[in-house]
Amino acid sequence: MNLDDIKKISSKTMKLLNNLGINNIYDLVTYYPYRYEILKRSKLNELIDGQNIIIDGIVESMPNLFYYGKKKNIMSFRINSNGFIFSVSIYNRGYLKSKISIGNYVTVIGKYNLKNSKIVANDIKLSKLPDKPIVEVIYHTTNGITSKQLNKFILEGLDKIKINNYVPLFLVNKYDFMDKMEALKEIHKPTSSLKLKESIRFLKYEELFIFMLKINNLKNKRNSELGIERNVDYLLIDKFIKTLPFTLTTDQVKCINDIYNDLICKKRMNRLLQGDVGSGKTIVSFIALYINYLSNYQGVLMAPTEVLASQHYSNINKYLKNINIALLTGTTKRSERKKILEEIKSGKVDIIIGTHALFSEDVVYNNLGLVITDEQHRFGVQQRHLLRNKGHVPDVLYLSATPIPRTYALTIYGDMDISNIKTVPNGKKDIITILKGNNDIKEVLNMMYQELICKHQIYVIAPLVEESEKIDLENVNSIYEKMNKAFSKICKIGIMHGKLSKEEKEQVMTDFVEGKIGILVSTTVIEVGVDVKNATMIVIFDSYRFGLSQLHQLRGRVGRNNMQSYCILISDCEKERLQIMTKTNDGFKISEEDFRLRGSGDLFGVKQSGDMNFKLANIKTDFNLLVKAKNDSLEYLNKLEYHSNNEDINEIIENISNLD
Ligand code: ADP
Ligand code: MG
Repeated sequence: MNLDDIKKISSKTMKLLNNLGINNIYDLVTYYPYRYEILKRSKLNELIDGQNIIIDGIVESMPNLFYYGKKKNIMSFRINSNGFIFSVSIYNRGYLKSKISIGNYVTVIGKYNLKNSKIVANDIKLSKLPDKPIVEVIYHTTNGITSKQLNKFILEGLDKIKINNYVPLFLVNKYDFMDKMEALKEIHKPTSSLKLKESIRFLKYEELFIFMLKINNLKNKRNSELGIERNVDYLLIDKFIKTLPFTLTTDQVKCINDIYNDLICKKRMNRLLQGDVGSGKTIVSFIALYINYLSNYQGVLMAPTEVLASQHYSNINKYLKNINIALLTGTTKRSERKKILEEIKSGKVDIIIGTHALFSEDVVYNNLGLVITDEQHRFGVQQRHLLRNKGHVPDVLYLSATPIPRTYALTIYGDMDISNIKTVPNGKKDIITILKGNNDIKEVLNMMYQELICKHQIYVIAPLVEESEKIDLENVNSIYEKMNKAFSKICKIGIMHGKLSKEEKEQVMTDFVEGKIGILVSTTVIEVGVDVKNATMIVIFDSYRFGLSQLHQLRGRVGRNNMQSYCILISDCEKERLQIMTKTNDGFKISEEDFRLRGSGDLFGVKQSGDMNFKLANIKTDFNLLVKAKNDSLEYLNKLEYHSNNEDINEIIENISNLD
């Protein structure tokens, strides 16, 4: 069943649909509306100046069409609605002129102007309003396709497609779900608000159920997966730990033990190491690499950015002497790369640090035993699967600085074992967080000045306007200029944003790390992992635009040694929410709050993994449904296991979830 089977989808329309992510009929019929507009006649004696109204009436005057500018026009005419006369005007609908004639009914939707009984219409329908309210279904769409057209395609698609219901019957009965086809029809063409609600409930549940089924099936598979059995004496690790310039925290030691036990036993490791920013995950990951090295396997550590990869590379070389370590990133020079690839293949290199480049096709590992992914939420399942496709079954460790409440972790990371670092190393002072309004800018500049004269460095984060890269850029530039005005005599000011080339970004980062730049004005591109110890202040403009967890991540850029550090949040709204930041430095608490305050903020990081691109469901607001789906999927898997063999189960699940 193809999109071409639907009438009136031209090749041009097809491209537009593809741009919306619609590539087949199933995509089409599950392209859900994001809101509904209810068209109901406004009461004539209750019209309010400046508001949007909907009325119908009889045309009383021939429409007057006036052209201006390039191909622009405005049309106006009068209507009589139950004895009330309105003058109506509408832009760029000249083509309707011949259809609007005296004595005919029209419906007008637009903005009402009391003074001269005028309506500036944004839509005109060539008929009377029915007595029952009409529901208009509104989709996110793109230039060239209207919601109405899209709806028409979808309804036609629904007539042609054969739909599979993925929720097993016993669950359909348990929740008294409506039939899937009925639900799809209802969501695209509602017949009542009650039925609409029911359809949404079912469709959300189905998404969550499929997701949890995938996770739980993975967990089952993982539990029976065999990996590498190693023989490494813990004394050697202990000895290494004693050479570190600091004492590990209790949680760090506990996590190292978890990892050690995973690595020496036969079961394949699949572990998530969660810990707040600055909690010291990196050294734990280095020790994991060391254990792996001691058992004569190659290990890799993959970071999400070049900056981080280089940082890890220079750090690990400080700790692990006499081990061959290589750095491989997208910007590694060709000749250098060739040499490194040979050394990886021959086994001359023991540990490789890098970015995605580590998974390019031409990288051939020699006895790969451990793969660590830093800031794991940055990578999707796809990338994690690449190694598997190379025929290796290494142990796997994910690092994540996005602490999430345990209940959530158990669902969305349900396929992994989890270790937590809950405390930040001793000797670190809590970051002092201060909330200021835009009017306090002088005071903020003064605080910045105090840090700069101590030769400390500062991050300044420009407001984020996700919808528009252009505005983002304008914001960064304007703040950059302000900073130059205020401080160019004291220090150099750098600028960092997504539009810079890789090389430019690296250069700015290097200059900042080396202290050549005093203030770094940036968008959130710096958010993950960057560790510049001399940076003691971060100023975040329009901080209300960020989720609390994201602010916490940003704040974690400072306070990276024992100097007192500050985070200045500037915002004129949502102060109550932002106050939470001034009260605690505990990422777990903050993420709990973030979850509690649904609606604002997002499950920072998790969303980006791409594994959870639900069309309707929202793991935060639909969390209760997610928990149900989790338990139900477990029950279903148990039933399947009871009745069939493993291969059948895999086939069933894979059919359901198109795993690959
Ligand atoms: P993150 O968990 O955010 O990746 P890092 O691993 O970058 O944090 O650690 C932050 C800083 O704390 C680093 O400079 C690291 O050297 C230091 N550190 C790590 N563990 C300890 C410890 N137990 N005591 C003191 N400092 C530590
Ligand atoms: Mg880190």
